[in-house]
Amino acid sequence: MHLPDYKEARSRSKKKYNRIDFKIDNSIEKKYVGKKYYLKTYGCQMNEHDSENISAMLEAMGFVRADDYNDADLVLLNTCSIRENAHNKAFGMLGRLKHLKGQKKDLIIGLCGCMAQEAKVCEEILNKYKYVNFVFGTHNIYQLPEIVDRAVSSSKQQIEVYSREGDLVEGLPVVRDKNYKAFVNIIYGCDKFCTYCIVPYTRGRERSRKKEDIIEEVKSLVSDGYKEVTLLGQNVNAYGKDLYDDYDMGDLLEDIAKLNIPRIRFMTSHPWDFTDKMIEVIAKYPNIMPSVHLPVQSGSSRILKLMGRRYTRESYLELFHKIKDIIPNVSVSTDIIVGFPGEEEEDFLETLSLVNECKFDNAFTFIFSEREGTPACRLKDNTTLKEKEDRLYRLNDVVNKYFLENNKKLEGKTVKVLVEGVSDKKDMYFGYSDTNKLINFTCEKEVNCGDIVDVQITSAKTWSLDGKCK
Ligand code: SF4
Repeated sequence: MHLPDYKEARSRSKKKYNRIDFKIDNSIEKKYVGKKYYLKTYGCQMNEHDSENISAMLEAMGFVRADDYNDADLVLLNTCSIRENAHNKAFGMLGRLKHLKGQKKDLIIGLCGCMAQEAKVCEEILNKYKYVNFVFGTHNIYQLPEIVDRAVSSSKQQIEVYSREGDLVEGLPVVRDKNYKAFVNIIYGCDKFCTYCIVPYTRGRERSRKKEDIIEEVKSLVSDGYKEVTLLGQNVNAYGKDLYDDYDMGDLLEDIAKLNIPRIRFMTSHPWDFTDKMIEVIAKYPNIMPSVHLPVQSGSSRILKLMGRRYTRESYLELFHKIKDIIPNVSVSTDIIVGFPGEEEEDFLETLSLVNECKFDNAFTFIFSEREGTPACRLKDNTTLKEKEDRLYRLNDVVNKYFLENNKKLEGKTVKVLVEGVSDKKDMYFGYSDTNKLINFTCEKEVNCGDIVDVQITSAKTWSLDGKCK
């Protein structure tokens, strides 16, 4: 049994990390033919992509996917620990599974992902959730086949969570959710240690994949007819720093753009590492989508310092305007936290004034949520929840106004949309524009998921636009 340890998870050494090539043991391959699995994913795109790897490993063992957890022989929760709400949802699901296990004694229940990296969660599972058969962390996903196999044959809980800085595993199988857009990991982990964030502890140090491996993966997606690739990492802009002296995210973006995949996106960017070269490359290649997610978190330099964000309000605004000036028709989205410990009304007003200056195309806004083990937990917080809710309400009013204002500018214009499916609204398709806006549209001719079509915008709403196919 290996339990997580935050002290170890925080350490960063100069030591080279191990590169591991995944291989499933012959004795486990197809051992579980006839059994079904149900996988529930919480959280970000990194987790969604991990789940694509997890599904593929389970399917290599012989499991087939069940659409309903009541039909499954194995239920696995791939969890997120970024906010309290995500925690509560996973524990709520474990409660429902207890009931199911009462009826199905052979049911195997597992938990993985970021929550598994938290010592408190593992202790709780050991003490209060004894019916959970196995837990593994983000650093040893590749061990899933052996851990599941042990959990099936043993009555003991299998808890295998490592806190070391992390290895880099190549060759993990993948079952992609869609056959026209794909996630490709380019870097794992984060070394930024923003004071409110649990990710550097749960995902380990920054480990870039070799450029050759990434390029090969994208080449094979191109030859399989994929239309869009999203380059993934907790902080993609740090790509290459741990591996190369003369090759960075700007170079990688340029090399991927030359592979001629129609659409390239990347998530998530820390403003600190956003270079001029990246901006030039995005502006130069039409297949790199003009859509940048640039989390600001606060408009107050004092709060940004407390958050450990390594930039000021002024340097963020300088970068923001550079991006807007150089990349034609770019849309910029952001993340904002209100009610960080120590945030006064004046700090919040600075956030509002920054929003009024940037007029973001989209913004994910949150009330600060304390994550145990992070430095922000030790900061004094005199603001009441009611005040924080009031700030969130006022912030949302302003951001929503700009979403609508920006969308209105597209009325009458034609945008290219990657079709994703049939909309909830009857007789409409939906998809995303190059600037990552949700478009619902009618079309007289038949279109398929993965087609890129011209849509004329007929009306704009706050969070989406309506149009008709040309
Ligand atoms: S850069 Fe992002 S992932 Fe890394 S510590 Fe900061 S908020 Fe967390």
